[in-house]
Amino acid sequence: MNAEIINIGDELLIGQVVNTNASWLASEMNKAGISVVQITTIADDDYAIKAALDQASERAQIIIISGGLGPTRDDITKKSLAEYFNSEMIFDEGTFENVKKIFSLRHYEVTEVNKMQALIPEKCIPLQNNNGTAPGMWFEKDDKVFVSLPGVPYELKSLFSDEVIVRLAKRYKLGAVVHKTIMTTGVGESFLAAKIKDWEDNLPPYVKLAYLPQPGLVRLRLSAKGPDKQALENELQQLTEALKQYVPEVIYGYDDMSLEEAIGNLLKEKGKTIATAESCTGGYIAHLITSIAGSSDYYKGSIISYSNEVKMNLLGVSSASLEEYGAVSQDVVEQMATGARERLKTDYAMATSGIAGPDGGTEEKPVGTTWIALAGPNGVISQRFHFGEHRGRNIRRSALVALNMLRMELIK
Ligand code: ATP
Ligand code: MG
Repeated sequence: MNAEIINIGDELLIGQVVNTNASWLASEMNKAGISVVQITTIADDDYAIKAALDQASERAQIIIISGGLGPTRDDITKKSLAEYFNSEMIFDEGTFENVKKIFSLRHYEVTEVNKMQALIPEKCIPLQNNNGTAPGMWFEKDDKVFVSLPGVPYELKSLFSDEVIVRLAKRYKLGAVVHKTIMTTGVGESFLAAKIKDWEDNLPPYVKLAYLPQPGLVRLRLSAKGPDKQALENELQQLTEALKQYVPEVIYGYDDMSLEEAIGNLLKEKGKTIATAESCTGGYIAHLITSIAGSSDYYKGSIISYSNEVKMNLLGVSSASLEEYGAVSQDVVEQMATGARERLKTDYAMATSGIAGPDGGTEEKPVGTTWIALAGPNGVISQRFHFGEHRGRNIRRSALVALNMLRMELIK
Protein backbone atom coordinates (compact mmCIF):
# COMPACT_ATOMS: atom_id res chain seq x y z
CA MET A 1 0.00 0.00 0.00
CA ASN A 2 1.48 3.37 -1.07
CA ALA A 3 0.93 6.74 0.51
CA GLU A 4 1.95 10.30 -0.13
CA ILE A 5 2.16 13.10 2.42
CA ILE A 6 1.38 16.67 1.38
CA ASN A 7 2.33 19.34 3.89
CA ILE A 8 0.77 22.71 3.24
CA GLY A 9 2.08 25.95 4.71
CA ASP A 10 4.02 29.03 3.68
CA GLU A 11 5.86 28.82 7.02
CA LEU A 12 7.37 25.48 5.94
CA LEU A 13 8.67 26.89 2.66
CA ILE A 14 10.41 29.87 4.21
CA GLY A 15 12.15 27.63 6.73
CA GLN A 16 10.39 29.16 9.72
CA VAL A 17 8.83 25.90 10.88
CA VAL A 18 10.52 22.52 10.60
CA ASN A 19 8.30 19.96 8.90
CA THR A 20 8.04 17.54 11.81
CA ASN A 21 4.57 16.43 10.72
CA ALA A 22 6.10 14.78 7.67
CA SER A 23 8.63 12.70 9.57
CA TRP A 24 6.12 11.76 12.25
CA LEU A 25 3.43 10.72 9.73
CA ALA A 26 5.99 8.81 7.65
CA SER A 27 7.23 6.85 10.62
CA GLU A 28 3.70 6.03 11.83
CA MET A 29 2.64 4.84 8.40
CA ASN A 30 5.78 2.78 8.03
CA LYS A 31 5.05 1.05 11.31
CA ALA A 32 1.60 0.22 9.99
CA GLY A 33 2.99 -1.28 6.81
CA ILE A 34 2.19 1.61 4.50
CA SER A 35 5.02 2.71 2.21
CA VAL A 36 5.37 6.45 1.89
CA VAL A 37 6.50 7.04 -1.67
CA GLN A 38 6.71 10.81 -1.63
CA ILE A 39 6.54 13.78 0.72
CA THR A 40 5.60 17.07 -0.89
CA THR A 41 5.66 20.49 0.73
CA ILE A 42 3.64 23.27 -0.84
CA ALA A 43 2.43 26.82 -0.20
CA ASP A 44 -1.01 27.88 1.05
CA ASP A 45 -2.03 28.29 -2.57
CA ASP A 46 -5.14 26.98 -4.32
CA TYR A 47 -3.42 26.04 -7.57
CA ALA A 48 -0.53 24.32 -5.76
CA ILE A 49 -2.94 22.31 -3.58
CA LYS A 50 -5.01 21.03 -6.51
CA ALA A 51 -1.94 20.21 -8.59
CA ALA A 52 -0.34 18.34 -5.69
CA LEU A 53 -3.53 16.30 -5.19
CA ASP A 54 -3.61 15.37 -8.89
CA GLN A 55 0.01 14.30 -8.88
CA ALA A 56 -0.16 12.44 -5.59
CA SER A 57 -3.14 10.38 -6.74
CA GLU A 58 -1.05 9.08 -9.63
CA ARG A 59 1.52 7.69 -7.22
CA ALA A 60 -0.41 6.64 -4.13
CA GLN A 61 -3.68 5.17 -2.88
CA ILE A 62 -3.54 7.06 0.39
CA ILE A 63 -2.94 10.81 0.45
CA ILE A 64 -2.47 12.49 3.81
CA ILE A 65 -2.59 16.28 3.84
CA SER A 66 -1.60 18.54 6.73
CA GLY A 67 -2.06 22.23 7.43
CA GLY A 68 -4.13 25.18 6.40
CA LEU A 69 -7.38 24.29 8.16
CA GLY A 70 -7.52 27.28 10.49
CA PRO A 71 -10.30 29.89 10.41
CA THR A 72 -7.96 32.67 9.30
CA ARG A 73 -7.82 33.95 5.75
CA ASP A 74 -4.36 32.52 5.02
CA ASP A 75 -5.65 28.99 5.57
CA ILE A 76 -7.39 27.85 2.36
CA THR A 77 -7.06 24.07 2.32
CA LYS A 78 -10.71 23.34 3.12
CA LYS A 79 -12.05 25.54 0.33
CA SER A 80 -9.61 24.07 -2.19
CA LEU A 81 -10.59 20.54 -1.16
CA ALA A 82 -14.30 21.31 -1.55
CA GLU A 83 -13.67 22.55 -5.09
CA TYR A 84 -11.36 19.66 -5.90
CA PHE A 85 -14.01 17.11 -4.91
CA ASN A 86 -16.86 19.14 -6.47
CA SER A 87 -18.54 19.44 -3.15
CA GLU A 88 -20.92 21.99 -1.58
CA MET A 89 -20.15 23.27 1.89
CA ILE A 90 -22.58 22.21 4.59
CA PHE A 91 -22.92 23.10 8.24
CA ASP A 92 -22.04 20.05 10.32
CA GLU A 93 -23.81 19.99 13.70
CA GLY A 94 -21.42 17.39 15.17
CA THR A 95 -18.41 19.55 14.37
CA PHE A 96 -20.15 22.63 15.81
CA GLU A 97 -20.85 20.75 19.04
CA ASN A 98 -17.12 19.99 19.25
CA VAL A 99 -16.22 23.67 18.63
CA LYS A 100 -18.59 24.71 21.42
CA LYS A 101 -17.18 22.06 23.75
CA ILE A 102 -13.59 23.18 23.13
CA PHE A 103 -14.53 26.83 23.73
CA SER A 104 -16.48 26.18 26.88
CA LEU A 105 -13.52 24.22 28.29
CA ARG A 106 -11.40 27.33 27.74
CA HIS A 107 -14.21 29.68 28.91
CA TYR A 108 -14.27 31.54 25.60
CA GLU A 109 -17.27 32.83 23.63
CA VAL A 110 -17.78 31.16 20.24
CA THR A 111 -17.40 33.86 17.57
CA GLU A 112 -18.77 33.82 14.01
CA VAL A 113 -15.27 32.99 12.73
CA ASN A 114 -15.10 29.94 15.01
CA LYS A 115 -18.56 28.84 13.92
CA MET A 116 -17.19 28.66 10.36
CA GLN A 117 -15.04 25.72 11.47
CA ALA A 118 -18.24 23.65 11.32
CA LEU A 119 -18.68 24.41 7.60
CA ILE A 120 -17.26 21.39 5.82
CA PRO A 121 -17.44 19.86 2.33
CA GLU A 122 -20.52 17.70 2.02
CA LYS A 123 -18.56 14.83 0.47
CA CYS A 124 -16.22 14.31 3.43
CA ILE A 125 -16.54 12.30 6.60
CA PRO A 126 -15.57 14.66 9.44
CA LEU A 127 -13.08 13.28 11.97
CA GLN A 128 -13.56 14.79 15.40
CA ASN A 129 -10.58 16.79 16.70
CA ASN A 130 -10.50 16.54 20.50
CA ASN A 131 -7.68 19.07 20.82
CA GLY A 132 -8.80 21.80 18.45
CA THR A 133 -11.66 23.21 16.46
CA ALA A 134 -10.67 22.18 12.91
CA PRO A 135 -12.00 18.68 12.16
CA GLY A 136 -10.04 16.19 10.11
CA MET A 137 -11.71 15.36 6.77
CA TRP A 138 -11.81 11.96 5.05
CA PHE A 139 -12.57 11.90 1.30
CA GLU A 140 -12.75 8.98 -1.10
CA LYS A 141 -12.46 9.25 -4.86
CA ASP A 142 -11.66 6.60 -7.50
CA ASP A 143 -10.85 4.09 -4.78
CA LYS A 144 -8.31 6.44 -3.21
CA VAL A 145 -8.43 7.92 0.25
CA PHE A 146 -7.57 11.58 0.93
CA VAL A 147 -7.32 12.73 4.53
CA SER A 148 -6.87 16.35 5.53
CA LEU A 149 -5.49 17.06 9.00
CA PRO A 150 -4.73 20.26 10.92
CA GLY A 151 -1.13 21.49 10.90
CA VAL A 152 -0.72 21.87 14.66
CA PRO A 153 1.40 18.81 15.52
CA TYR A 154 -0.42 17.58 18.64
CA GLU A 155 -3.82 17.92 16.95
CA LEU A 156 -2.53 16.06 13.90
CA LYS A 157 -1.00 13.29 15.99
CA SER A 158 -4.06 12.51 18.05
CA LEU A 159 -6.38 12.63 15.03
CA PHE A 160 -4.08 10.38 13.04
CA SER A 161 -3.60 7.83 15.83
CA ASP A 162 -7.20 7.78 17.09
CA GLU A 163 -9.08 8.01 13.81
CA VAL A 164 -7.08 7.80 10.61
CA ILE A 165 -4.89 4.76 11.19
CA VAL A 166 -7.82 2.79 12.58
CA ARG A 167 -9.91 3.51 9.48
CA LEU A 168 -7.00 2.80 7.12
CA ALA A 169 -6.30 -0.56 8.76
CA LYS A 170 -9.99 -1.47 8.33
CA ARG A 171 -10.17 -0.38 4.73
CA TYR A 172 -6.92 -1.93 3.47
CA LYS A 173 -5.39 -5.20 4.57
CA LEU A 174 -2.16 -3.67 5.80
CA GLY A 175 1.10 -5.65 5.71
CA ALA A 176 3.92 -5.01 8.14
CA VAL A 177 7.20 -3.11 7.84
CA VAL A 178 9.85 -3.77 10.47
CA HIS A 179 13.08 -1.84 11.02
CA LYS A 180 16.17 -2.64 13.01
CA THR A 181 19.02 -0.16 13.39
CA ILE A 182 22.51 -1.40 14.16
CA MET A 183 24.86 1.19 15.66
CA THR A 184 28.52 1.00 14.66
CA THR A 185 31.60 3.07 15.40
CA GLY A 186 35.34 2.94 14.82
CA VAL A 187 35.36 2.34 11.07
CA GLY A 188 34.18 4.46 8.15
CA GLU A 189 31.28 3.67 5.85
CA SER A 190 33.24 2.27 2.90
CA PHE A 191 35.49 0.12 5.09
CA LEU A 192 32.41 -1.22 6.85
CA ALA A 193 30.72 -1.95 3.51
CA ALA A 194 33.75 -3.93 2.35
CA LYS A 195 33.85 -5.97 5.56
CA ILE A 196 30.17 -6.94 5.46
CA LYS A 197 29.90 -7.40 1.71
CA ASP A 198 29.18 -11.16 1.84
CA TRP A 199 26.49 -10.68 4.45
CA GLU A 200 24.91 -7.83 2.46
CA ASP A 201 24.98 -9.82 -0.80
CA ASN A 202 22.98 -12.57 0.86
CA LEU A 203 20.17 -10.47 2.28
CA PRO A 204 16.74 -11.70 1.13
CA PRO A 205 15.06 -9.51 -1.50
CA TYR A 206 12.42 -8.19 0.91
CA VAL A 207 15.10 -6.86 3.29
CA LYS A 208 16.74 -3.53 2.48
CA LEU A 209 19.93 -2.15 4.01
CA ALA A 210 20.69 1.56 4.40
CA TYR A 211 24.00 3.11 5.52
CA LEU A 212 23.40 6.24 7.59
CA PRO A 213 26.76 7.85 8.42
CA GLN A 214 27.31 10.66 10.93
CA PRO A 215 30.66 12.04 12.15
CA GLY A 216 32.17 9.19 14.17
CA LEU A 217 29.27 6.73 13.71
CA VAL A 218 27.59 4.70 11.00
CA ARG A 219 24.04 3.46 11.54
CA LEU A 220 22.96 0.43 9.53
CA ARG A 221 19.21 0.25 9.11
CA LEU A 222 17.58 -2.98 8.02
CA SER A 223 13.99 -2.72 6.77
CA ALA A 224 11.83 -5.72 5.97
CA LYS A 225 8.40 -5.84 4.40
CA GLY A 226 5.93 -8.70 4.46
CA PRO A 227 2.60 -10.02 5.66
CA ASP A 228 3.71 -11.32 9.08
CA LYS A 229 5.23 -8.86 11.54
CA GLN A 230 6.51 -11.45 14.00
CA ALA A 231 8.22 -13.46 11.26
CA LEU A 232 9.94 -10.31 10.00
CA GLU A 233 11.13 -9.40 13.48
CA ASN A 234 12.60 -12.87 13.94
CA GLU A 235 14.29 -12.67 10.57
CA LEU A 236 15.90 -9.29 11.31
CA GLN A 237 17.07 -10.61 14.66
CA GLN A 238 18.79 -13.54 12.96
CA LEU A 239 20.37 -11.31 10.32
CA THR A 240 21.67 -9.00 13.06
CA GLU A 241 23.19 -11.94 14.92
CA ALA A 242 24.86 -13.11 11.71
CA LEU A 243 26.28 -9.62 11.09
CA LYS A 244 28.06 -9.70 14.47
CA GLN A 245 30.37 -12.40 13.17
CA TYR A 246 31.65 -10.12 10.41
CA VAL A 247 32.32 -7.03 12.56
CA PRO A 248 32.10 -8.07 16.22
CA GLU A 249 34.07 -5.14 17.64
CA VAL A 250 32.38 -2.45 15.59
CA ILE A 251 28.77 -2.90 16.74
CA TYR A 252 28.12 -1.14 20.03
CA GLY A 253 24.32 -1.13 20.25
CA TYR A 254 20.95 -1.08 18.52
CA ASP A 255 18.06 1.21 17.69
CA ASP A 256 19.65 4.64 18.09
CA MET A 257 21.45 3.89 21.33
CA SER A 258 24.22 6.45 21.88
CA LEU A 259 27.84 5.46 22.43
CA GLU A 260 27.85 7.18 25.82
CA GLU A 261 24.90 5.06 26.91
CA ALA A 262 26.61 1.86 25.72
CA ILE A 263 29.72 2.82 27.68
CA GLY A 264 27.69 3.65 30.76
CA ASN A 265 26.17 0.16 30.63
CA LEU A 266 29.60 -1.47 30.29
CA LEU A 267 31.10 0.54 33.17
CA LYS A 268 28.17 -0.33 35.43
CA GLU A 269 28.34 -3.98 34.48
CA LYS A 270 32.07 -4.13 35.27
CA GLY A 271 31.91 -1.85 38.30
CA LYS A 272 34.59 0.49 36.93
CA THR A 273 34.99 4.27 37.22
CA ILE A 274 36.18 6.87 34.75
CA ALA A 275 37.47 10.47 34.59
CA THR A 276 38.36 12.78 31.72
CA ALA A 277 41.10 15.31 30.97
CA GLU A 278 39.96 17.39 28.04
CA SER A 279 41.81 19.93 25.99
CA CYS A 280 40.43 20.22 22.45
CA THR A 281 37.03 18.74 23.40
CA GLY A 282 36.60 21.37 26.14
CA GLY A 283 34.27 19.31 28.31
CA TYR A 284 32.20 17.81 25.50
CA ILE A 285 33.07 14.24 26.56
CA ALA A 286 32.01 15.11 30.10
CA HIS A 287 28.76 16.50 28.73
CA LEU A 288 28.06 13.34 26.72
CA ILE A 289 28.80 11.05 29.66
CA THR A 290 26.71 13.06 32.11
CA SER A 291 23.75 13.32 29.76
CA ILE A 292 23.10 9.68 30.66
CA ALA A 293 20.95 9.26 33.78
CA GLY A 294 22.79 7.36 36.48
CA SER A 295 26.27 8.35 35.24
CA SER A 296 27.29 9.35 38.76
CA ASP A 297 27.72 5.61 39.41
CA TYR A 298 30.82 5.54 37.22
CA TYR A 299 31.86 9.07 36.27
CA LYS A 300 33.92 11.11 38.74
CA GLY A 301 34.65 14.29 36.82
CA SER A 302 36.82 16.15 34.38
CA ILE A 303 39.74 18.52 34.30
CA ILE A 304 39.26 20.79 31.33
CA SER A 305 42.90 21.62 30.74
CA TYR A 306 42.61 24.02 27.85
CA SER A 307 45.80 25.94 28.73
CA ASN A 308 49.31 24.62 29.31
CA GLU A 309 49.16 26.12 32.78
CA VAL A 310 46.23 23.90 33.76
CA LYS A 311 47.85 20.89 32.11
CA MET A 312 50.90 21.43 34.32
CA ASN A 313 49.31 22.58 37.56
CA LEU A 314 46.25 20.37 37.74
CA LEU A 315 47.33 17.30 35.77
CA GLY A 316 51.08 17.24 36.41
CA VAL A 317 52.14 17.42 32.76
CA SER A 318 55.87 18.26 32.64
CA SER A 319 56.86 21.65 31.29
CA ALA A 320 59.78 20.01 29.49
CA SER A 321 57.37 17.82 27.46
CA LEU A 322 55.20 20.79 26.61
CA GLU A 323 58.25 22.73 25.43
CA GLU A 324 59.83 19.91 23.52
CA TYR A 325 56.80 18.28 21.85
CA GLY A 326 54.01 20.84 22.16
CA ALA A 327 50.56 20.37 23.74
CA VAL A 328 49.29 18.26 20.83
CA SER A 329 51.66 15.36 21.26
CA GLN A 330 51.76 11.79 22.44
CA ASP A 331 53.86 12.61 25.48
CA VAL A 332 51.51 15.31 26.72
CA VAL A 333 48.24 13.49 26.08
CA GLU A 334 49.51 10.39 27.89
CA GLN A 335 50.58 12.50 30.87
CA MET A 336 47.16 14.14 30.86
CA ALA A 337 45.43 10.75 31.01
CA THR A 338 47.66 9.31 33.75
CA GLY A 339 47.47 12.60 35.68
CA ALA A 340 43.66 12.57 35.61
CA ARG A 341 43.52 8.91 36.60
CA GLU A 342 45.81 9.46 39.58
CA ARG A 343 44.29 12.71 40.77
CA LEU A 344 40.65 11.70 40.36
CA LYS A 345 41.35 8.16 41.61
CA THR A 346 39.49 6.23 38.90
CA ASP A 347 40.04 2.95 37.10
CA TYR A 348 40.29 4.69 33.74
CA ALA A 349 40.86 8.19 32.43
CA MET A 350 40.76 9.47 28.88
CA ALA A 351 42.45 12.56 27.52
CA THR A 352 42.22 14.60 24.33
CA SER A 353 44.59 17.15 22.86
CA GLY A 354 44.17 18.38 19.32
CA ILE A 355 43.86 21.29 16.93
CA ALA A 356 40.13 21.68 16.40
CA GLY A 357 40.52 24.62 14.00
CA PRO A 358 39.92 26.69 12.05
CA ASP A 359 43.25 28.33 13.13
CA GLY A 360 46.31 26.96 14.86
CA GLY A 361 47.39 24.36 12.30
CA THR A 362 50.99 24.01 11.10
CA GLU A 363 52.56 21.99 8.33
CA GLU A 364 53.64 19.34 10.80
CA LYS A 365 50.34 19.41 12.74
CA PRO A 366 47.52 20.56 10.46
CA VAL A 367 44.02 21.40 11.72
CA GLY A 368 42.32 18.16 12.74
CA THR A 369 45.45 16.59 14.26
CA THR A 370 44.34 15.02 17.52
CA TRP A 371 45.99 12.84 20.14
CA ILE A 372 43.76 10.70 22.33
CA ALA A 373 44.92 8.64 25.29
CA LEU A 374 43.41 6.17 27.70
CA ALA A 375 45.04 5.38 31.03
CA GLY A 376 43.93 2.26 32.87
CA PRO A 377 45.09 -0.44 35.27
CA ASN A 378 47.39 -1.89 32.59
CA GLY A 379 49.09 1.35 31.63
CA VAL A 380 48.37 4.00 29.03
CA ILE A 381 47.61 3.73 25.33
CA SER A 382 47.37 6.56 22.83
CA GLN A 383 46.73 7.19 19.17
CA ARG A 384 47.07 10.04 16.72
CA PHE A 385 44.15 10.94 14.43
CA HIS A 386 43.73 13.24 11.45
CA PHE A 387 40.21 14.57 11.40
CA GLY A 388 39.00 17.31 9.04
CA GLU A 389 38.79 21.07 8.89
CA HIS A 390 35.48 21.63 10.64
CA ARG A 391 35.78 22.60 14.30
CA GLY A 392 32.44 21.23 15.52
CA ARG A 393 32.88 17.90 13.75
CA ASN A 394 36.47 17.59 15.01
CA ILE A 395 35.28 18.01 18.58
CA ARG A 396 32.47 15.48 18.12
CA ARG A 397 34.73 12.92 16.43
CA SER A 398 37.44 13.30 19.07
CA ALA A 399 34.89 12.62 21.79
CA LEU A 400 33.44 9.56 20.06
CA VAL A 401 36.88 8.12 19.33
CA ALA A 402 37.88 8.60 22.97
CA LEU A 403 34.68 6.89 24.14
CA ASN A 404 35.29 4.07 21.69
CA MET A 405 38.85 3.60 22.90
CA LEU A 406 37.43 3.03 26.36
CA ARG A 407 34.77 0.69 25.00
CA MET A 408 37.37 -1.44 23.21
CA GLU A 409 39.32 -1.70 26.44
CA LEU A 410 36.23 -2.67 28.43
CA ILE A 411 35.15 -5.43 26.02
CA LYS A 412 38.64 -6.95 25.74
P1 ATP B 1 -4.92 26.32 13.03
O1 ATP B 1 -6.30 25.94 13.31
O2 ATP B 1 -4.06 26.43 14.28
O3 ATP B 1 -4.73 27.50 12.13
P2 ATP B 1 -4.06 24.81 10.74
O4 ATP B 1 -4.52 23.49 10.30
O5 ATP B 1 -4.49 25.97 9.95
O6 ATP B 1 -4.33 25.03 12.26
P3 ATP B 1 -1.56 25.78 10.16
O7 ATP B 1 -2.07 27.18 10.30
O8 ATP B 1 -1.13 25.36 8.82
O9 ATP B 1 -2.56 24.74 10.73
O10 ATP B 1 -0.38 25.56 11.17
C1 ATP B 1 -0.53 25.87 12.54
C2 ATP B 1 0.82 25.73 13.19
O11 ATP B 1 1.17 24.36 13.22
C3 ATP B 1 1.93 26.41 12.43
O12 ATP B 1 2.14 27.73 12.82
C4 ATP B 1 3.11 25.57 12.76
O13 ATP B 1 3.71 26.01 13.96
C5 ATP B 1 2.53 24.20 12.95
N1 ATP B 1 2.70 23.40 11.74
C6 ATP B 1 2.02 23.48 10.59
N2 ATP B 1 2.43 22.57 9.70
C7 ATP B 1 3.44 21.91 10.30
C8 ATP B 1 4.31 20.84 9.90
N3 ATP B 1 4.20 20.28 8.68
N4 ATP B 1 5.21 20.40 10.78
C9 ATP B 1 5.31 20.95 12.01
N5 ATP B 1 4.55 21.95 12.44
C10 ATP B 1 3.61 22.44 11.61
MG1 MG C 1 -1.05 27.43 7.73
